[in-house]
Amino acid sequence: MADSQAFVRGRTSASGWWAAFALVSLVACSRVAMAGTTVAAKAVPNNEAKSSVFVPATMEKHHPPVAGAAGLVVTFLGTTSALISDGETTLMTDGYFSRVKIGKAPESQVIRPNVPAIDAALKSLPSGPVAAVFVVHSHFDHAMDAPVVAQRTGALLVGSASTANVGRGLGLPEKQLRVVSPGEQLQFGKFTVHFYRSKHFPLGEPLASVMLGNTIDTPLVPPARFDAYKEGTTFSILFEHPRGNILLHGSAGYLPGALAGVKADAILLGTGGLGDLPRAEQEAYYREVVLATGAKQIFPVHWDVMSTPFSAPLLPDTDFQHAMGFLTEMNASRGLQLALLPKGEPVLLELNHDQ
Ligand SMILES: [Zn+2]
Repeated sequence: MADSQAFVRGRTSASGWWAAFALVSLVACSRVAMAGTTVAAKAVPNNEAKSSVFVPATMEKHHPPVAGAAGLVVTFLGTTSALISDGETTLMTDGYFSRVKIGKAPESQVIRPNVPAIDAALKSLPSGPVAAVFVVHSHFDHAMDAPVVAQRTGALLVGSASTANVGRGLGLPEKQLRVVSPGEQLQFGKFTVHFYRSKHFPLGEPLASVMLGNTIDTPLVPPARFDAYKEGTTFSILFEHPRGNILLHGSAGYLPGALAGVKADAILLGTGGLGDLPRAEQEAYYREVVLATGAKQIFPVHWDVMSTPFSAPLLPDTDFQHAMGFLTEMNASRGLQLALLPKGEPVLLELNHDQ
């Protein structure tokens, strides 16, 4: 459905995101709750939506796309999970579908992969083999389900040594594990996948002490407390392809200079918590990730409340509007595109790569 792909011009005001978000929500739902307000899709202000949303690329209805199509197909799956495909090779990021709800009660803090939810999610995706699942760091909302996805699809699980221990804890055989370090690159079909060291979003205490700067050193067998899923290495991952380069930068932190010289056409940009950061930190993040790579298309990820079921519409997290307002403002004079990808819908990104 072409009109479900909402690109928003750099000049769009923050309020334009209401329209854009509601339009995206038309794909899979009729209502969306946002910042405490429920917006009926039919109540999208049409004039505003038409003036702020346009569709420069093709919505690909069939996946994989026809051979020779320009661009790459991305299917956003909530949080930092996505499929990236050129029609011959399909790769997945994170593959987190359990979307567990963690509360204050101790029993709600013990978690495990929700295998029926993972199976249902995989069944809903475009069919075809998945060559590899790439995990950006080892917190539960990135790494917990990935071994199950690997088991179900036959994909290689790729990530840090900590991620490998999440895989071992679920019985994934060694031949399906690939530990990578910053600076490495791997080849999958026409994709060259590069791994760069990055930095996690600066969690506050008490979470920071137990979840940042640490590793999972033995096989992690669920059920386990959510904070047993230690950070491990946090990666920024570049999917380089002759049709264009896509960077997945999953967590809204950065290492100064880490992405210098990296060329990305599009970024799946982690915005979780971005809206709550001090302005100077927001600007540094934008400079070190967006401007450093020269990307022209920005697709926020990790913007959704991560405890809603995968089968339900995505809901924006509490800082969503601030983050979008910031990105819209920063893009305004630079002509960059900013868009939300619809959940579960393959979208053909025309990346305008000049190679
Ligand atoms: Zn994390």
